[in-house]
Amino acid sequence: MTATAEPSTPPRAATSTPRAATRQNAGLARRLAEALQGEARFDSFTRGRYATDASIYQIIPAGVVLPRSAADIAATLKIAAEHDVPVIMRGGGTSQNGQPIGHGLVVDCSRHFNGITAYDPAGGTITVEPGMVLERLNTRVKADGWFFPVEPSTATRCTIGGMAGNNSCGARSLRFGKMSDNVLAIEALFPDGTPFGFGLTGNDSTGVTGPDRAEHLAAAMRALAEAERDEILARYPRVQRRVGGYNLDALIEARPNLAHLLVGSEGTLAATTGVTLKLSRLPAHRVMGVCHFPSFRSAMETTKALVDLGPVAVELVDNNVLVLGADIPLFRTTLADITRGTPNCLLLVEFAGDDRDALLADLRRLDACMRDHGFRNAVVEVPEPVRQKSVWEVREACLNIMMSMKGDAKPVSFIEDCAVPLEHLADYTDTVTEVFTRHGTRGTWYAHASVGCLHVRPILDMKQGGDVAKMRAIAEEASAAVRRFKGSYSGEHGDGISRSEYIEPMFGARLTRAFETVKDGFDPDNRLNPGKIVRPLRMDDRALMRFQPGYAVTQPAATALDWSDWGGFGPAVEMCNSNGTCRKLVGGAMCPSYRVTKDEQHLTRGRANSLRLAISGQLGADAFTSPEMKRTLDLCVSCKACRRECPTGVDMAKMKIEFLHHYHARHGLPLKERLVAALPLYASTAARLAPLLNLRDRLPALARLSERWVGLSARRTLPQWRRPWHESGEPAHPGDVSGDFRDVVLFGDTFNRAFERENLEAAERVLLAAGYRLHRVFPHRGRRPLCCGRTYLASGQTDRARAEARRTLAALLPFIRAGARVVGLEPSCLLTFRDEFTALLPGPEAAELGRASFLFEELLAADLKAGRIDLPLADQGGRVAHLHGHCHQKAFAAMGAVETVLRAVPGLDVRPIESSCCGMAGAFGYGAETIDVSLAMAELSLFPALRQAGPDDLVVADGTSCRHQIHDGLGLTARHVARVLDDALVTSTRPSPPLRNGKPFLPL
Ligand SMILES: Cc1cc2nc3c(=O)[nH]c(=O)nc-3n(C[C@H](O)[C@H](O)[C@H](O)COP(=O)(O)OP(=O)(O)OC[C@H]3O[C@@H](n4cnc5c(N)ncnc54)[C@H](O)[C@@H]3O)c2cc1C
Ligand code: SF4
Ligand code: SF4
Repeated sequence: MTATAEPSTPPRAATSTPRAATRQNAGLARRLAEALQGEARFDSFTRGRYATDASIYQIIPAGVVLPRSAADIAATLKIAAEHDVPVIMRGGGTSQNGQPIGHGLVVDCSRHFNGITAYDPAGGTITVEPGMVLERLNTRVKADGWFFPVEPSTATRCTIGGMAGNNSCGARSLRFGKMSDNVLAIEALFPDGTPFGFGLTGNDSTGVTGPDRAEHLAAAMRALAEAERDEILARYPRVQRRVGGYNLDALIEARPNLAHLLVGSEGTLAATTGVTLKLSRLPAHRVMGVCHFPSFRSAMETTKALVDLGPVAVELVDNNVLVLGADIPLFRTTLADITRGTPNCLLLVEFAGDDRDALLADLRRLDACMRDHGFRNAVVEVPEPVRQKSVWEVREACLNIMMSMKGDAKPVSFIEDCAVPLEHLADYTDTVTEVFTRHGTRGTWYAHASVGCLHVRPILDMKQGGDVAKMRAIAEEASAAVRRFKGSYSGEHGDGISRSEYIEPMFGARLTRAFETVKDGFDPDNRLNPGKIVRPLRMDDRALMRFQPGYAVTQPAATALDWSDWGGFGPAVEMCNSNGTCRKLVGGAMCPSYRVTKDEQHLTRGRANSLRLAISGQLGADAFTSPEMKRTLDLCVSCKACRRECPTGVDMAKMKIEFLHHYHARHGLPLKERLVAALPLYASTAARLAPLLNLRDRLPALARLSERWVGLSARRTLPQWRRPWHESGEPAHPGDVSGDFRDVVLFGDTFNRAFERENLEAAERVLLAAGYRLHRVFPHRGRRPLCCGRTYLASGQTDRARAEARRTLAALLPFIRAGARVVGLEPSCLLTFRDEFTALLPGPEAAELGRASFLFEELLAADLKAGRIDLPLADQGGRVAHLHGHCHQKAFAAMGAVETVLRAVPGLDVRPIESSCCGMAGAFGYGAETIDVSLAMAELSLFPALRQAGPDDLVVADGTSCRHQIHDGLGLTARHVARVLDDALVTSTRPSPPLRNGKPFLPL
């Protein structure tokens, strides 16, 4: 039970800012702290982090509650009522229209209130708490052959409470419908905290549990719906994807399910505390046909014919996505796999069922249908589940691919999910495209062609008042077009702030008054999520937006790194659109700190939002370099997973360097950071004092002292000092480079030099055995080895890192220009040449070095593939090699290369571990304050996987830190791929590997 209240400060402006904590908040905080089992937070950073969803809006809440139970929510509602503060329920915060934000207490159910309360595997029903994430639910029920079939693109992070709130739908809604078709019952709380339940009526059931008041309300609602029956039949659009307004239409069914009135009510009627869901049987097979079209209109005109074939999904991927996606490394390969020639757009058609032959026949029917419409050889068949998964990943990232657009003008969501009957789809899209053209903009179309619900976002600059006015004009015209084509203005995402205003034009005045009656019946004092669905906020009110009038990035005055690729540090930070991909808990590597703490603060999104608010002065004058900002970034392990996996390319690792530079400039550099950063400077001297320095790990008292004085955890061993690597051969001259592929400079990073020279020695032997010529390069001045500056970057010492970069660049460039390539072993060091060097020393020279620098495995994999080298390697007799990738290898797509090289070893059974960060991350795992999080990160997937390893299995890890973490945590010795190859080499200079049980083995 905790509550943190900020000292009350007067509001800065009419629009609330996170600093505008009031005395009322202090009272609220106190009361909540007394009452809650969970947490309530009132500090400005937390409130700022909960001010946005994936929309253009921003409203700073009064506070944030993280409930642990329904009782916590009930207490919150009561206390909020006493203080006359609204309550806004929230799940993953992935809405696109401002639904889960507001002036009041935001109640985030996703952190703690997310369990399963009942599960009937025989009957296929499940009851969950509202914070349950859809993907977790599906993982749980999969083993029993079930799945929950409403699958929004945000399945990895959207919650059942939020899905019910928005009446969400997935790509397969053609077969499975919306949430309202799959929710059986809802338990909820009235605004005063009184519990009740709604479910199916009939068979002697009123469909109501709870006090008489709930019965009376249910009866009143049914009477209201009956009274409006004619109007409902006349005004509710007859499209499957109608999610706007309240579901009064559900109450005029023969046996209404009262819960369906709460579905889609966006937290405006009641607070959901439990949802009972109907599960569906997982189909045994799925197949996909990727239909190619020469024009957008032809795709729209053919959609209905494709839908008539009975698929479960027909999804559009338009030209913009094809073009932008081809530039995103994560999607390039998939798009190349599924496209032939240069189609204008694609329709992804999926069939599902238990009879695979029948499904393959469906693909043939699809091809015939396309031919009938004049499109020959226009279907790429994707029958393999693995390929289908990649295609769905591209489809689900469509929005984000578009949002990766740099600059202030971005695709904006406000008419992004209108749905029209299929027969009008082509005309509707033409009409709206014409509206865009008239307003000097354009849009990208994608998604659920099957149900006439296409996503589109015109490109507008929401920092400009003129474009906000355009947004209003486009909304008016699009809403009129949707009405003309008898569609629904919201066909998927809900009303929120963007669309509540358009309920009256769509449903008419009479039904709008009926909606107000619904609201007043449940929430007479307008406490729950006010301003949504009824009595709406203005969708173009700039005071409610992220970029309010006067928004400007004022800090830092000058940046330490070059951010020109984004148009500046501010635009780089603003790239985060809060879609929440970083909240996923499985798959990929982003974001390891969040996977451990499940706290928005330790999430890429939370960090980006905090930075945006801080650099634009919304968290106070010095917020950017404040301790709060430091705490927000402390657990970021700079793994760079977001750089690759965040669909908009938010590069938090680089932002952390920028931040630390300014933070330490203001607060000074602590001893631990100084010691770690200067490692390359004192490594040679320290090696000479090895016996003395290594005592730290042998004498517990010294370990404790190092914790107290320097902040290095006493529970951690430190790398052992020893005689460093001595490169063989004489210093080279660029003239020695003959200019063919064999010329290589082996870059010895500080860590491998000082602590694991056998890796570099092994790499030398392997490279020589493969026929490379090694060149020994020294800096121009002094003999201190070349360095990438990584240790300086880790503490934001960009000036020193830049000096290292200059030294290294000056020494290596002549060799590169003579035709040599640079190869390195440690991913975090070598890849600095490709990444941070260009931000430290913008210009063609750093880029040149970046292009000529390769990880050991990248070099070998490329040359093996080109058939330029041959490695004589001994058969390993089926020995298993568990492969853990360093985060930076993953971020730079180098894992394929490690696997290629390892698979070149005959008889080696390579098994990649699907792991996120190992948790060590440079100095992070050594910190007394961070060791627990570090170990928890390792326990997420790496350690459990390695505990399954057999005694003779190999563990392969190219990262120094990863090897240390594995050894420290499990007592296993992990090896760099260079040593694996070296040990497997069959050369006249190296003896054959020794035998164990008649099989060759590689000694650990
Ligand atoms: C990239 C992207 C793709 C998307 N794709 C889809 C898609 O394919 N299909 C689709 O339908 N949507 C989609 N959405 C919209 C959004 O992801 C879904 O609506 C999702 O279901 C919202 O879940 P959430 O947990 O994030 O809810 P939130 O955004 O946190 O909340 C949604 C609504 O539910 C209410 N709510 C939350 N919890 C409760 C509770 N306990 N009690 C009462 N009310 C509550 C909130 O007040 C709010 O009004 C997408 C969004 C993005 C950013
Ligand atoms: S950091 Fe990236 S993945 Fe996370 S919410 Fe922001 S844009 Fe989405
Ligand atoms: S660099 Fe890694 S830890 Fe940091 S925000 Fe990105 S994904 Fe999270």
